[in-house]
Amino acid sequence: MSVRELASKIRKGSRIALAKGITLAENDPEGAARLLSLMGPPLKAFVVGITGPPGTGKSSLVDRLIEAYRRDGLKVGVIAVDPSSPITGGALLGDRIRMSGHAGDMGVFIRSMASRGWSGGLSRATSQVIRLMDAAGYDLILLETVGIGQSDIEVVGVSHAVLVVLMPGLGDDIQVSKAGLMEIGDVYVVNKSDLEGADLMVVNLLSLFRGGPRSPPVLKVSALSGEGIEALHDAIERVRGSFKAGSTDLRLKSIRGMIIETARGAAMERLAGVSELRADVLAKQVLSGRTTIEAAAARLKA
Ligand code: GDP
Repeated sequence: MSVRELASKIRKGSRIALAKGITLAENDPEGAARLLSLMGPPLKAFVVGITGPPGTGKSSLVDRLIEAYRRDGLKVGVIAVDPSSPITGGALLGDRIRMSGHAGDMGVFIRSMASRGWSGGLSRATSQVIRLMDAAGYDLILLETVGIGQSDIEVVGVSHAVLVVLMPGLGDDIQVSKAGLMEIGDVYVVNKSDLEGADLMVVNLLSLFRGGPRSPPVLKVSALSGEGIEALHDAIERVRGSFKAGSTDLRLKSIRGMIIETARGAAMERLAGVSELRADVLAKQVLSGRTTIEAAAARLKA
């Protein structure tokens, strides 16, 4: 199948074509670039990034949000960035969501991507998968990450709304603020409200925001019992309201994030490709005094 045919099938909503396009984004950056050049910028799908420390219940919440948005009649795409290694089998988060009853639903497309072993390519691929899902007619994309380090930054850049998922007993508020999570959320979710300490966690979060420049909503929910999911849906809908009304700001923010992540990913992939051998040669030149480490690094990048 030519790239042109593939693009046309993706636009018509073929799941097989979309899966092929995603595989291209994962394995063949140039092929993916050709495919995406045949599609316009992503303007239709609303992207919700979901982040937070491991174990707080992000996957469980994604499952609930899929349910809620399917009831609204939206087509939902899910990208689960999986902490497990591609070598040890990967795909844990995605499988868990898949197993939970959305498997036969043609209005849901779930793809998990292993975060390890990517050398930056994940940033590029994530943006490209969002664009492919957008082209395939998905209205809402849930982008779930492992919630540590670089993946958070990527999520913030490309998403229209970011949910930070926390839970009771995570430790004190200071830990949360240290992890850099206080700056990035549009909505804060204290999940596992069925457990003790949820109210305290909410109070702690509110006090962290008090006096600061922002006061994002802090919601107490339980992915287990379903309590608070409706309120979470409403909070997301408030942001999606301005998106639906045509907000250029939100679209610009996400496209800007995609440009940055695509460039960053491509640069890191390039570097990963050339580094080892050339670095050996350059190291010898540095040792013999023919060049400096800075100059060698610049040449390595070129
Ligand atoms: P993730 O690592 O953030 O994606 O978290 P998971 O969705 O995998 O959830 C981690 C664990 O917490 C699992 O054992 C879930 O069953 C459990 N869990 C998720 N949501 C809730 C909740 O609302 N209440 C309770 N008690 N457990 C939950």
